[in-house]
Amino acid sequence: MSLTVHELTVRYGDLAAVSEVDLAVADGSVVALLGPSGCGKSTLLRAVAGLEPSVAGRVCWNGADLAGVPVHRREFGLVFQDGQLFPHRNVAGNVAFGLRMRRVDRSAQRARVAELLDLVGLAGYEARRSTELSGGEQQRVALARALAPRPRLLLLDEPLSALDRALREQLAIDLARVLTGTTALVVTHDHDEAFTLADRVAVMRAGRIVQTGPPAEVWREPADEETARFLGCGVLVPATVHNGVASCELGEVALPWAPPGEALLGLRPTALRPAKTGVKGEVMQRVHRRDHVRLRVRLADGREVDAVAGVLDTDDTVTLALDPDGVALVSRRG
Ligand code: ADP
Repeated sequence: MSLTVHELTVRYGDLAAVSEVDLAVADGSVVALLGPSGCGKSTLLRAVAGLEPSVAGRVCWNGADLAGVPVHRREFGLVFQDGQLFPHRNVAGNVAFGLRMRRVDRSAQRARVAELLDLVGLAGYEARRSTELSGGEQQRVALARALAPRPRLLLLDEPLSALDRALREQLAIDLARVLTGTTALVVTHDHDEAFTLADRVAVMRAGRIVQTGPPAEVWREPADEETARFLGCGVLVPATVHNGVASCELGEVALPWAPPGEALLGLRPTALRPAKTGVKGEVMQRVHRRDHVRLRVRLADGREVDAVAGVLDTDDTVTLALDPDGVALVSRRG
């Protein structure tokens, strides 16, 4: 019960939107395709769905090539950015759509619709018009509709990106719960979303998959500098790792998991925080976030770095020390 993609290439004229991609989604696992806008994520998802023809390679289910199998016979569920509900049907009518197509009898349809609405947190919404729902509710209905016929694979294309930030965070947590045990491929450009939803993350860039692994591994050891920058590491510094401690020009930081030798560290803003001892700098800019302040700090050598401070830290000069939580190992040169 698994999806495998082999050497898949999809072209739009001269542009290879997807280039020689290999990808696997194991039974009961959720894989996130993560990458910047325009890198080919949706094209790959659409090719898996059968909505986009490929010029080379294969999409297989349980090893069998799906080349001749049309979209509606793949038994894949689809959820898009903007729900795409049927406006003339109520919620129950939308959720039951796939069941009607499969000629499931009416009482079984009703039971399944109620079950799904309960799962997505909309119990009792059957009679509501789809046009009267908020954006978040529409996405929940779209998810229930896709899941109702028990698809063997669920494909989600930026399912949360049309929603505002607070709603997105809540729905991402709910979606992670709903997707547990489901076989799913989800496209997103948002790291937080990918890391909340997925068992494995496949990072895409310019039509290719550049790294695949469990979220913690991809977060901790991005495959290369560009991936590190995409994953929020604004500063890259050479370091030496010895006995699980990395030393670089910005100080020392305990990375017990890092192998000894020369390395390149990627620092996210959270890697630098005010401390009693460390490197001194001048605060150039202060941006308030919900529960912290993002600082732009100029160091003695003129270089500017991002750092994170508490809301009450208002001094114009700061001493910054490294926090292992924000540090990634970009390359080992041991
Ligand atoms: P992503 O989902 O990562 O944002 P897409 O798969 O939508 O990226 O697009 C990948 C590339 O293919 C982009 O350069 C985009 O402009 C191009 N593209 C997407 N759809 C089409 C299309 N129907 N015709 C021509 N070019 C397209």
